[in-house]
Amino acid sequence: MARNLQLYRGRIISPLAGGGTLDESDGALLVNAAGRIEYAGPYPGCPTGDEIVEYRNPDALILPGMIDTHVHAPQFPLRAQWSGELLNWLENVVFPFEARFSDADLARRVARDFFAAALKQGTTTMAVFSTVHAEATSICFDEAFKSGIRALIGKSMIDMCAPPDLTHSDKQNMADMEALARQWHKVDNGRLQYCVTPRYAGSCSRRLLRDCGDFARVNNLPVQSHLAENRAELDFVHSRHSYASGYTDIYARAGLLGERTIMAHAIYVPDADLDVLADSDTALAHCPCSNRFLQSGVMALRKYQERGLRIGLGSDVAGGWTLSMFNEMREAIESAKTWNFMHPESERPAPTALEALRLATLDGARALGLDGTIGSLEAGKEADFLLCTAPKEESRREGVDSTEKKLSELVYSTTAPSIQAAYIRGACVFLQGAL
Ligand SMILES: [Zn+2]
Repeated sequence: MARNLQLYRGRIISPLAGGGTLDESDGALLVNAAGRIEYAGPYPGCPTGDEIVEYRNPDALILPGMIDTHVHAPQFPLRAQWSGELLNWLENVVFPFEARFSDADLARRVARDFFAAALKQGTTTMAVFSTVHAEATSICFDEAFKSGIRALIGKSMIDMCAPPDLTHSDKQNMADMEALARQWHKVDNGRLQYCVTPRYAGSCSRRLLRDCGDFARVNNLPVQSHLAENRAELDFVHSRHSYASGYTDIYARAGLLGERTIMAHAIYVPDADLDVLADSDTALAHCPCSNRFLQSGVMALRKYQERGLRIGLGSDVAGGWTLSMFNEMREAIESAKTWNFMHPESERPAPTALEALRLATLDGARALGLDGTIGSLEAGKEADFLLCTAPKEESRREGVDSTEKKLSELVYSTTAPSIQAAYIRGACVFLQGAL
């Protein structure tokens, strides 16, 4: 029997794992029945597919699926609610709402809306924090499963310094995590993963952090948490973990750093701690939109990249006000310019739009340990990709044929690019009307 091969024809732009970019104005993406890419390159002379999707209008692009390396699903309805900096915002906006997730109906409604909105914006992979509630976390997994999205998800582990209804004993936290990991880790051939998720050092005791580190190591699970996001948070965390030499050291002592760990923000990291992060191959989620919204600070993206750290982009909704990774790409570029303004003595070029695309796709996959599977459109990878167009009213700019200008047009659109369709493992998980 003939193999069922889908061929998508149009302009393809993708970073390449070996460096450089694939940019084919008449390109072909060939996806087999198993959802893997068999070919990505020029259309002329390419192997033929059994079915062909022509996607060739002048504003159309075929891109890798976007990867959001740090986001909070239950906070989705809380976007754009400023209430002062991080600790005030957590206390006044976030924790009161997360406490309501003992309500399974609310948890399901929010999770369903969250994943649907992410796919609609072109995000095909996410690293997700749930609340402390085991049932709400299981519902979050269930909605991710049904939506078709690829996700790492974890119950937020909290055992101190939060409202009583969000604070669980170490024993309960660990029992919940064990049951959730057993039920959901590697479901659908690894499309879903359980991610060990200590909320942040300010709401976890030394014992809970150590138990999380042990559990992750024994079960070979990914880890996500927050690191050095805000100045007041640094003081608070130090006061709770005075045995440690600094914020990074708290996690290092708990065995929570390593190649399977991704830490969000990492704005205030001394050089010696950067060495600890780099030596342990800990990855970072850069969340510039959130960092600006919560007035947290500006991460030294270029400096960290020069140290060899793996860095992806995170929307950090609801610290960030949108799930759009195109917005996060723009914020990453502008944030790097702001850093230059603040540090003229060590100015470094801000990322180009093409580099921002790499951050939001292949670099995100590397940060999550998934770059062998996704992140770029290359033969052998699983076919997570988008068909998208620049916003109509902005598509008449002159001279936008070069890769950089084309991507810049997308990134700097006043409205988000229109995602026509999103595919994960070759299966359509979002379709905007008819192609
Ligand atoms: Zn966060």
